[in-house]
Amino acid sequence: MNNLSFTSFFGNSGVKERLISLIENNKLPHAIILEGEKGLGKKTLAKIIAAAAVCRNEGQRPCGVCSQCIKAQAGSHPDISFIEGTGKMGGIPVDYIRKVRGDAYIVPSEAEKKVFILVDADNTGVAAQNAFLKVFEEPPKFSVFIITCESSANLLETIRSRAVAFTLAPVSTDEVINAVNGQGIQCEPDILNQAAIVSGGNIGKAIASLNDNKFILINQSVSDLVQGLVSPTEAQLLTALHLLEKDRDLARSVLDSFELCLRDALCAKCEGSGQLGANPEATAAIVRYINTKQILSLLENLEKISLPLDRFTGMPLAMTYACALMRKSVGK
Ligand SMILES: [Zn+2]
Repeated sequence: MNNLSFTSFFGNSGVKERLISLIENNKLPHAIILEGEKGLGKKTLAKIIAAAAVCRNEGQRPCGVCSQCIKAQAGSHPDISFIEGTGKMGGIPVDYIRKVRGDAYIVPSEAEKKVFILVDADNTGVAAQNAFLKVFEEPPKFSVFIITCESSANLLETIRSRAVAFTLAPVSTDEVINAVNGQGIQCEPDILNQAAIVSGGNIGKAIASLNDNKFILINQSVSDLVQGLVSPTEAQLLTALHLLEKDRDLARSVLDSFELCLRDALCAKCEGSGQLGANPEATAAIVRYINTKQILSLLENLEKISLPLDRFTGMPLAMTYACALMRKSVGK
């Protein structure tokens, strides 16, 4: 693993500069929210901030070499705690929060600060958030709380208003490629390039898709979907979609990738561009068999199709719904 340092964190230079400046001036807020979609590195950044908070170096923090940084890096620092949610929804239970409240008032064991990282707090219930608010309102001076979430809108306003929020954005395709190379993942340059484009600037997503050859599976699934869409009967499209039922993340990735192909096809039709983007085979089939009006309708319907995937609707139902809307878009 890379050293925990701001320089090893790719992209989001504005967020990093703000954090570095706060740390240099000893003004690290006691409550920080890191928001952004899954895969953008919120937890990694939280670890870097935590290491900076416990680091003993006078200059740049985290220094990566002091005893505190080494423990932070190893995940064994006694003053850094991770609080993760449980269950299907991943919310942090109220009794976990009560424990944090108790621990937060006990002085740190080794460092000057004590850091609590509440991971992926989006689905944390109101009771738990209210319990947390008590320590948030009058925090001990040595405590730092870092909440990571996809959107701070999922947190109570009373929590949001007491924290400093940093929003992580997707990075450039080149930065995704550099980050993946930095992880030592072996893959063909073409595949890496395609995976970086399909990830939409999300390093975590690109790495996940390249691990276990998932990227190849995604590409194949998109091709199957396009084949199904141009087929005269419903069966082929239904089969392609129902194959995605067991894996909600895969289904999301396939639909994201399909959307990119539709956009690439649209550009190819409008501008006559020869560039067929991340999935040339599927994009070429779209250009050939699906007209512009149908592509626009598919793009519009993809938003409706994606909604049930984020709402924990049953997957068979979500995929049947997707099939009906997609076929409607292409006039079937
Ligand atoms: Zn250090």
